Amino acid sequence: MAHQDSISSRLAAIRQRIDDSAQRAGRAAGSVTLLPVSKTFGEAPIREAVAAGVRRLGENKAQEIRSKFEPLADCGIDWVMIGNLQTNKAKDIARMASEIQSLDRLDLAVALERRLQHEGRAIDALVQIKTSTEPTKYGLPPDELLPFLRQVARDMPTLRIRGLMTLAINLHDQDAVRACFRTLRVLRDRMREEAVDGVEMERLSMGMSGDFEIAIEEGSTEVRIGTAIFGGRIYNDDYYWPETETPPVK
Ligand SMILES: *Cc1c(COP(=O)(O)O)cnc(C)c1O
Repeated sequence: MAHQDSISSRLAAIRQRIDDSAQRAGRAAGSVTLLPVSKTFGEAPIREAVAAGVRRLGENKAQEIRSKFEPLADCGIDWVMIGNLQTNKAKDIARMASEIQSLDRLDLAVALERRLQHEGRAIDALVQIKTSTEPTKYGLPPDELLPFLRQVARDMPTLRIRGLMTLAINLHDQDAVRACFRTLRVLRDRMREEAVDGVEMERLSMGMSGDFEIAIEEGSTEVRIGTAIFGGRIYNDDYYWPETETPPVK
């Protein structure tokens, strides 16, 4: 029996809550994927998660994926980049990530394409959309998405677009959070109708520890959960955004 506060028991509890929310929303259990987010957590907790069946992990800094990649190579983890990425770090993501969910601008797409060509790899990508008016938010403005998709599909064959991602940071106003998620789903549906050649629009990555149940009600196909699995981090929410320094890895 897993200790009641172990990573494996928290994973099981989160998986249950995800399935319960899906069913409450009239969706099939199993229709929402869990992406555990291991940022700031080191080898030991990650190996615990792997032992509990996790094979895909989200990180929000390229340098953190780089520092975990070799020591955990035996685990066969698929690393998923979910944080704002500087163009000059595209090389690390092209070499080590299986996917990026934070593709939010053209110069980044160009840099990734060049590095991925060099590596002889292609990766899945979600376009991160700015769905709130908060000034610090990253993400492509919704009205720029269609031309962006057309250009990536035409010029960047190493980036396989699979859907959209967003982050609702206004955690204390549930209506505002819900509005962000709804904006993303409506946008996804519109883009599906546009049917851009070479672009798939199935996935909606939205929802974190504090708001994933709302996200599932609004159509999320994938929730990114850190705190509720790995425990609290030692810094505040500023760290969702990359201006702050890398905190020490626990
Ligand atoms: C950290 C992070 C998450 C997970 O947040 P929690 O509140 O710890 O569940 C999700 N998405 C992104 C982009 C993140 O940086």
